[in-house]
Parts: sequence; structure tokens; C-alpha cells
Amino acid sequence: MQIASHQFFFEKEALNYPAGKKAYDLIKKEGRRIEFLPSHNRVTGIPGSVPQEAFFHGKNTIVIGIRRTLDFAGCKPSAHFQLPLVTGCPGMCEYCYLNTQLGKKPYMRLYVNVDEILARAAAYVEARRPEITIFEASATSDPVPGERYTGALARTVEFFADQEHGRLRFVTKFPAIDSLLELDHRRHTRIRFSLNTAKVVDKYEHRTPPLNTRLQALARILKHGFPGGVIIAPVIMNEGWEEEYNELLELIKNYLTGYPDITFEIISHRFTARARSNIMAVFPDTTLPMDESVNRRFKYGQFGYGKYVYTEDKLKSMKRFFEDKISSLMPDAKIEYII
Ligand code: SF4
Repeated sequence: MQIASHQFFFEKEALNYPAGKKAYDLIKKEGRRIEFLPSHNRVTGIPGSVPQEAFFHGKNTIVIGIRRTLDFAGCKPSAHFQLPLVTGCPGMCEYCYLNTQLGKKPYMRLYVNVDEILARAAAYVEARRPEITIFEASATSDPVPGERYTGALARTVEFFADQEHGRLRFVTKFPAIDSLLELDHRRHTRIRFSLNTAKVVDKYEHRTPPLNTRLQALARILKHGFPGGVIIAPVIMNEGWEEEYNELLELIKNYLTGYPDITFEIISHRFTARARSNIMAVFPDTTLPMDESVNRRFKYGQFGYGKYVYTEDKLKSMKRFFEDKISSLMPDAKIEYII
């Protein structure tokens, strides 16, 4: 299958914003072709008539535009609200939750009206004062790969530095965080890295950086005083899982020792029937464990559709395992949740 290298589409109004201008200049400088979209909601011109082709071309497409909806969705359990700076991600993780959310051509959309988005965030913070309000910038994306074009995350980190009652957090698998390191963040932004066993990374997380690269990036942000964290998701409980996750935690420990403000979030593998059929269409040879008759139970989700999660017994042993290991290896780290 022939897949074009990145395609870039712009909404015309994007050029009225500094972040849009920055992206345009950079893409031009790199000698890439830019097309302008006739209207906001119609991204036409991404090739691909069969699911695999559509998926891969979508993943190679970046749309630069304006965020029109400024009502932020909730974001349990990691934050109060989603902060929409980006949707989509160029990574191709087989299990990715975005695979059912972004349609057949899952392009990445970078929003350039950053100040309008942040003004809205400030209003949400104001409404909840004196409570602290936490915003998650990676609920519908990995926001790091697009950062070089817009600088939206850097602007957002600086904005939250000034928010007495607002905090930012995001999670990434990508190491391109160096533009954030020297910012005056005042420890109001928590950057977490999504990690998994070498086997899971290798088998399922296509087009993402290797484990050591992510750990080195995590070490860099910690060294620059950012609160940090680790998300291990999805935990896949195949044969030998305890040994493999133990190895991962031992490795993580080497990078985290000496830093006091570290959080862990652990999420077991789950899938919906719809996700499974989308995954099978794009990755027909997938080995993700998606047989609902093996170690699974059906659970109704908060949005009305059901998902297959591990059985109670399996989940209990997973919780025990991570609680024991994390508390013995990294006693200062805080486990936020294990689900
Ligand atoms: S890196 Fe994260 S957002 Fe990107 S494809 Fe993988 S799981 Fe999805």
C-alpha cells in the first residue's frame, strides 16, 4: 500500500492567529504542500477507500484550524475538564481509544485559537474557586507530536503557571517536550508518560517511541521541576504478565528515584464490541486479547454502551500486584487509581 507522507490542510481563518501563522510558516519552510479547506467541518481530499488505507492516510494528515465548541467535556477520573488543544495522534497503537472516536480517517486536528480556549478555561476555574480545577490536555489526543507546529502546549503551560486555582496535566508517549523545559511552569503542570512492557510496546504501539526514549524524556521533565507521572495502560494480563510488569516497574524506578512528586495511573485492558471490529478491520492480524469468553466480564459503561473488562478475580490480582510493587519500589509515589 502506498501511503503519502504528511498532508496538511488549513482552515483559512487559522492564519489570523499567531499559532496558525507559526504552523503555516514552518510547514512552508519544510517545503510541504498545504491545502486550504473550503469549510470547517468538511475535510475532503484524504485518500483511502478501504479501512486500512483510510486509517493510514488519516494518521498521516494534519488539519490546522479553529476550535469552535468551547464547552469543555468532563474528564473522569484524571481531571475535572478536558482541555481541547488537539484531537488525534499520529501514533498507531492497536488498542487506542481514539480508534472508535475519530471516524475512518483519524486525522490530527491542531487548534490555533489557543487564547480563546484558555480564556474559557479561566472561566471554568473562576466558577469553581476556591477549589482547584484540573484540566486534562490529552483526553482526545496525544498533544505532543503537534506541538512543534503551533506551540499551543507551551503557551498553555505558561497560562497555567499564572492560575492560582487551575492546574494542567497531559500524558504522552512522545519525547518532544524540550520546548517546555525552560518555561516558568511553577509546578502547575503535571506531565505523565504512557509506558508499558517492552512486549506491549513492540507488539501494539506502532509508530511510537521506544520505552527508553520515553523514560529519558520523563527524566528530563522531572529534572526541570515539573511534577511527573506514569500511566501504565493498557495492562494486558497475558501469561507471564507479572514478570513483565515487574521488570517495567524496576526499570521505571531507576528513572524516578529522588523525585518526590510522582503519580501512577494504572488502567487494565478493556474493549467494546465496536472497538474490536474497528481494530480487526485495520489490524486483521492483531493478537490483542479480545475473546470475551476468556477472562472477561461484561460491564455497562458510563456512556450507555457496554465493555468487556477482566473478571473480578483478575482485576483484584492486578490491583494487589501494582499496589505491592509500587509501594515497595517507589514508596513516595502516589497511586491515583488502578482500574
Ligand atoms: S500514542 Fe496514545 S493517542 Fe496516540 S495512538 Fe497511541 S494510544 Fe492513541
